[in-house]
Amino acid sequence: MLKRLSKLVLICLGAGIISSARAEEKNPWFNHNFSYEKVDKALENYDFNYKFYDINIEASDFYPGELIKIEIKEKSSVDLEEIILEFDNKKYPIGRLDKNSLISFIPLDLEIKPSNYSIKLKTKVFGKIKTEEYGIDVEKKEFIVQNIKLPKEKLRKSYPSQKDLERIEREKKEKAIAFSKITGKKWEGNFIEPLLEEYAKYGWAYGARRFYSGQERSRHKGLDYPVPLGTEVRATNSGKVVLAEELFFEGNTIIVDHGFSIFSLYLHLKDIYVKSEEKVEKGQIIGTVGASGRATGPHLHYETRVNGISVNPRSLKIID
Ligand SMILES: [Zn+2]
Repeated sequence: MLKRLSKLVLICLGAGIISSARAEEKNPWFNHNFSYEKVDKALENYDFNYKFYDINIEASDFYPGELIKIEIKEKSSVDLEEIILEFDNKKYPIGRLDKNSLISFIPLDLEIKPSNYSIKLKTKVFGKIKTEEYGIDVEKKEFIVQNIKLPKEKLRKSYPSQKDLERIEREKKEKAIAFSKITGKKWEGNFIEPLLEEYAKYGWAYGARRFYSGQERSRHKGLDYPVPLGTEVRATNSGKVVLAEELFFEGNTIIVDHGFSIFSLYLHLKDIYVKSEEKVEKGQIIGTVGASGRATGPHLHYETRVNGISVNPRSLKIID
């Protein structure tokens, strides 16, 4: 078990007990004069402690709301026949970056209980299944509490009518469709801030517990940037727009798919400059800051969602 993984964790495993040259020598599939007899003989002597991959597990912090990146590099010419990644009893998709490298992301939900967890990696090589476990400590983090008073004209957003509820339901399905497709890698390099540097520093309140008129509502799942109305909003990485329209709570909204189930969301906009299905470049101006939807004043709500969970957008800095 790995004890207390703090700021940056890099675990390199798989130096292995035997060298890869020796592994190949023993590997029955490298023998061109194939016979089951030879395979059985080779398997008898085979050292299954040999690791066929190197793994790097990295996160800015192991707190609720942070993102864990797992990179797997296959060694030599051995292909993993099957690979399954599990965390907290849930399977996570693994994407292929190139011939020898695979990547996966585990988002730590805001509600995850601080404790010891393990990342389980099941691999199948030469028909044999092997499970490796990598321990991580999810630490406790305090989030701010905000009491929010909505102006009268926005109160409707807190107490939706029957008609509003139907609309909310419709939009919920629409968003689910936008998030459902796992596409190939579209991001290029690191994620940038959605606003220019002079405004970027104002982004705050990720994970805040919010009370509307004394009633606790769901956690605040993004960063809020209280900046002037009309400030330009940029796509934080390359991708494809999967939603660009006015929604009941979110107001004018843009959702960009960056591939491998990484999405960025831009809420409460004034203007929307892009259309659904449109490709966007990193840094492209896609809209402007507004106060549409359930917003108390002009601000950008910027959110990043990975494998269905909203994580702190700043935890995406481990992606390159
Ligand atoms: Zn917000």
